[in-house]
Amino acid sequence: MPAPRRTFSALLCAALVLLSGCGDSGAGGSADAGLSVATTVAPITSIAANIGGDRVKITGIVPEGTNSHTFEPKPSDAELLSQVDVLYVNGLQLEEPTKDLAAQNLKDGAQIVELGTRSIPASEYIYDFSFPKSGGRPNPHLWTDPRYALKYAQIIRDDLSERDPANSAYYAANFNRFKARVDAFDEAMQASFETIPRARRKLLTYHDAYAYFGRNYGWDIIGAIQLSDFEDPTPKEVARLIDQVRAEKVPAIFGSEVFPSPVLAQIGKEAGVKYVDILRDDDLPGEPGDAGHSWMGLMHFDYVTMTEAMGGDATALKAFKPANTAPDTASYPQ
Ligand SMILES: [Zn+2]
Repeated sequence: MPAPRRTFSALLCAALVLLSGCGDSGAGGSADAGLSVATTVAPITSIAANIGGDRVKITGIVPEGTNSHTFEPKPSDAELLSQVDVLYVNGLQLEEPTKDLAAQNLKDGAQIVELGTRSIPASEYIYDFSFPKSGGRPNPHLWTDPRYALKYAQIIRDDLSERDPANSAYYAANFNRFKARVDAFDEAMQASFETIPRARRKLLTYHDAYAYFGRNYGWDIIGAIQLSDFEDPTPKEVARLIDQVRAEKVPAIFGSEVFPSPVLAQIGKEAGVKYVDILRDDDLPGEPGDAGHSWMGLMHFDYVTMTEAMGGDATALKAFKPANTAPDTASYPQ
């Protein structure tokens, strides 16, 4: 059953503003300025909410817990797309069907903004086992790396400010608050990862979502099991992976909640390593309203999980508390 669409309503806060000055930026502007924003995957929706706060209405199109790589928007999404001022997508060819539908339906002046494509030059794209160069689609998972997520936030700040200059100081204040938390998260990640010997920082995952993170934080991606067509590998390939896991002496291999895989369980069992099947790349943990039900909570959960599975000390990461940082986004997504 598909999850309900996450819509953040500014109405409650608009009402509160009259009573109490909901939002603490003191930046002026109107709470019901009414910019309407659509996004695709939940991490991007969450980042946009942390910058847009209570001054924009944000709707995520890709339901959490679905395969975003093969997602096709519903015909009814055309109506939503015809009403928004901007659609934020990851880009790097993750959401082509949604982009196509948007191109046919966006109103005059509305635009598609590709956050990932604007964050990294094509010369730095990663192609690999699951996203081979021959397929023409680079690995799109930039947002699992906090430094790229911060770039997404910066692009959103600048874009919202351009479309809604009256609230630009508010968006800037939200960005600064978000950046302070991301910087602290980045430090906690580095401190925890340093407790794992460099030679043991090797990732074999089912879903190939950590390639950019690995490059920037000193983890070797020794493989991904999921094929470019999102099917399981052949028995021959599975046998090769079992040999590789034995040879690399990794303590654990990782599956993903969105892609349960008996094949990965089999590889773990036959190679004699722990199989940890709870990583996520776009399904936010917890319940709406939880601080962890956010991009930051998602990545925090993954990096604590990886550190502990590798035998590292996650104290620094656990001392860091993920949060939604914009005023009145504590309950986002709803
Ligand atoms: Zn993915």
